[in-house]
Amino acid sequence: MGSKDYYAILGVPKNASSDDIKKSYRKLVLKYHPDKNPGDKTAEEKFKEINEAYEVLKDDQKRAAYDRYGSDAFSNGSSSSSGDNPFGFEGFSAGNFGDFSDIFEQMFGDSIFGTRSNSRHQQPGADIRYDVTINLREACTGTHKTLKYTTFVRCDLCSGRGYDNKYTPTACPNCGGRGSVRTRNGFLTIEQTCQQCGGQGSIISHPCRKCSGSGRIKDDKRIDISIPAGIESGGQIRIPNEGEAGYMGSPNGNLYVVVNILPHDVFKLEGHDLKCTVYIPMTTAILGGNISVTDIDGNSHSINISHGTQTGTQVRIKSVGMPYYQSSRRGDMLVEIIVETPIDLTSQQRGIIEDFQRQCTTKNNPKTQATQDKFSVL
Ligand SMILES: [Zn+2]
Ligand SMILES: [Zn+2]
Repeated sequence: MGSKDYYAILGVPKNASSDDIKKSYRKLVLKYHPDKNPGDKTAEEKFKEINEAYEVLKDDQKRAAYDRYGSDAFSNGSSSSSGDNPFGFEGFSAGNFGDFSDIFEQMFGDSIFGTRSNSRHQQPGADIRYDVTINLREACTGTHKTLKYTTFVRCDLCSGRGYDNKYTPTACPNCGGRGSVRTRNGFLTIEQTCQQCGGQGSIISHPCRKCSGSGRIKDDKRIDISIPAGIESGGQIRIPNEGEAGYMGSPNGNLYVVVNILPHDVFKLEGHDLKCTVYIPMTTAILGGNISVTDIDGNSHSINISHGTQTGTQVRIKSVGMPYYQSSRRGDMLVEIIVETPIDLTSQQRGIIEDFQRQCTTKNNPKTQATQDKFSVL
């Protein structure tokens, strides 16, 4: 059995950014969605494959594991059994791994999958979303931010165990420490969470007085994050384990930082290009000259305005635009030239322009003449 190439399935290169993966995934999911391809088995298979690939590549840790071990590490035979529900891909659960789970436990520690020998109920902490606003320049150069938020953190008194260390919990007599009980009803064996211990498998006589047994407390948290250059507005950065602490030592949730970019006074982002508008006097447009513009990094560039420059002329300054995410490539700066018509003339200036007007021929304004000609045949 060959390993599946998840990158090829999503049509992205191996070094694709998580944004690129997300974009490509969205496009493919729309294309192969069963609603759009009723009865088309190939599309359905493709759709499942795309979801399977995305489940792995969207997650940094799973992606790293995939890069090392290939898709065999993830094949669980159940992805095709999700039947009518194409979104029902179950992805990662410790039970599906067989021998690979050992590798994953070594790689990630038991914080990801729980300890296999212990069937205690895991109640991981919730994920947290944190919105950060940065300016366009910070988006260009990359930046650091300190995030402050209040959330559940591991209780320091009991180290998240939830009980006073002097009174070790005893195995639950009802379930024998399994956390669940089985009842037989003819053929049927039903497994249910143990009512007495709530699935914990143990009875705690002395819950921690600081966290009342939950293993976590509300506290202020402060972390420093770096925002990479080239992030898009609305882009997400996943910070593993910085979400809510889990219940009684269960894994933490993740923190998702959503980055918003403020509009800039001068530049407008168009793809990776930074577009700006520059006014020049009518005389410069007529006679030609030089103007100076400043890029987002603060460096100035001289632009030669040739004589007879028209309004709307666009000048491209290469590679001083927005950087591509996780790449050294940059977009361009686009300068749109607008010719400013003089206002507030003195009578003397007006006289000069009137003189000039009298001397003008159709050669001076060929486009004006061409437009008139087109209208005249209508
Ligand atoms: Zn029990
Ligand atoms: Zn505690």
